[in-house]
Amino acid sequence: MIENPSNWAGNYTYRAAQFHQPQTVEQIQELVVHSNKLKALGTRHSFNDIADSAGDLISVEHLNQIVGLDRERSAVTVEAGVRYGQLARWLHREGYALHNLASLPHISVAGACATATHGSGDRHGNLATAVSALELVTANGELIPLSREKNGEQFRGAVVGLGGLGVITKLTLDISPTFEMRQDVYENLPLAELEDHLDELFSSTYSVSLFTDWRNSSFNQLWLKRDISDNAPIKLDPELFGATLARSHLHPIATLSAENCTEQMGISGPWHERLPHFRMDFTPSSGEELQSEYLVPRQHALEALQVIDRLREDIAPLLQISEVRSIAADDLWMSPCYKQASIAIHFTWKKDWEAVQTVLPLIEEKLAPLSARPHWAKLFTMSPTHLQSLYEKLPDFRQLLQDYDPHGKFRNAFLNQYIFENS
Ligand SMILES: Cc1cc2nc3c(=O)[nH]c(=O)nc-3n(C[C@H](O)[C@H](O)[C@H](O)COP(=O)(O)OP(=O)(O)OC[C@H]3O[C@@H](n4cnc5c(N)ncnc54)[C@H](O)[C@@H]3O)c2cc1C
Repeated sequence: MIENPSNWAGNYTYRAAQFHQPQTVEQIQELVVHSNKLKALGTRHSFNDIADSAGDLISVEHLNQIVGLDRERSAVTVEAGVRYGQLARWLHREGYALHNLASLPHISVAGACATATHGSGDRHGNLATAVSALELVTANGELIPLSREKNGEQFRGAVVGLGGLGVITKLTLDISPTFEMRQDVYENLPLAELEDHLDELFSSTYSVSLFTDWRNSSFNQLWLKRDISDNAPIKLDPELFGATLARSHLHPIATLSAENCTEQMGISGPWHERLPHFRMDFTPSSGEELQSEYLVPRQHALEALQVIDRLREDIAPLLQISEVRSIAADDLWMSPCYKQASIAIHFTWKKDWEAVQTVLPLIEEKLAPLSARPHWAKLFTMSPTHLQSLYEKLPDFRQLLQDYDPHGKFRNAFLNQYIFENS
């Protein structure tokens, strides 16, 4: 039983009547058969009620084994509750890497993929794009396999499944040979520089992140993560697009210690100790926070940033830090990057929902003409009707959920509102 049924940030208390922590797949099957309403729970890092259920919550945290490495197919299979940090260390020891990681390594593979969690990088899709197969317990308790190879469209609908198809017990992910990276940080990049250099900037290294507190029209920090496995000599310019190379390690929130952050200053290290911003053994981000994020099609990136810049006076007082990242297009139905390369504008807010919920509609209204899609696992206020209009595959996804779960066992308030309302 979970003692304190709230999410990681503590801003949401789960309303489920019962919490379960099964040790085996058979126990999950048993729970699914005997429950009328339930939902799987990962590491509880989502900020809204997406993971909740009116009935039972099934934590998959004890399904935490790495099942196998297939060197021939460049694939690793893990149980659903494995965290990226655990997997990444293991893969690196075996000589392998994942294509990308989120800002923190603490989240579960199943939970992260279910919400299309992403890192940054023009050439890298979100984390769910690495999934090549999965196993899930469906509403009647059956354990079924689904794969990219055999199940085509259905699979592409199931991967970013928002927990609606069943309880995922295992996932297989694409891997590649391990590689070394370095991370360099620049300070004070004027927003105006992006007018001519946005594409150049985001394509300049493996992964690029911009951080700003929106107190003026510039980015406080630019984080560049480089793949250095080719050993090519790198000569860093002390100035880049008007920004200056940092001379010490920095936390994205300037007032916090950089101790929690992955190594910067060009020091080389394995991919999994550079791709996340935060170290596995420390608290990620600030801890006392709320988060929202909007993904806009790449071609609207500059306009979206200018729109947010014009809302600075509303945003800045409530903000801890904002981050801008790029993500490649994919073909997963419910991914915010479905068929569109995207720029994600993220907000780490102060923990003051009353105030934050007054500014989100302003942001959403201004970003609406740019087709901004909210991150599924973060806080947003847009209407279900508007959200639904942003996903061309939504009718197919609804049908898929109905086929897998005809009596709505895995439906919760979130799915009823954002997926099924108006249907
Ligand atoms: C500090 C912090 C930093 C973050 N950084 C990023 C970031 O860099 N990029 C980004 O995109 N997001 C980021 N997020 C958001 C985070 O990645 C998502 O909330 C993600 O879903 C968390 O995974 P989880 O295991 O905690 O999922 P949970 O919150 O536990 O669950 C999320 C969803 O997954 C479903 N689910 C979980 N396990 C299963 C399963 N076994 N079978 C079926 N469905 C399942 C749940 O039902 C629910 O719908 C961050 C969040 C925090 C708190």
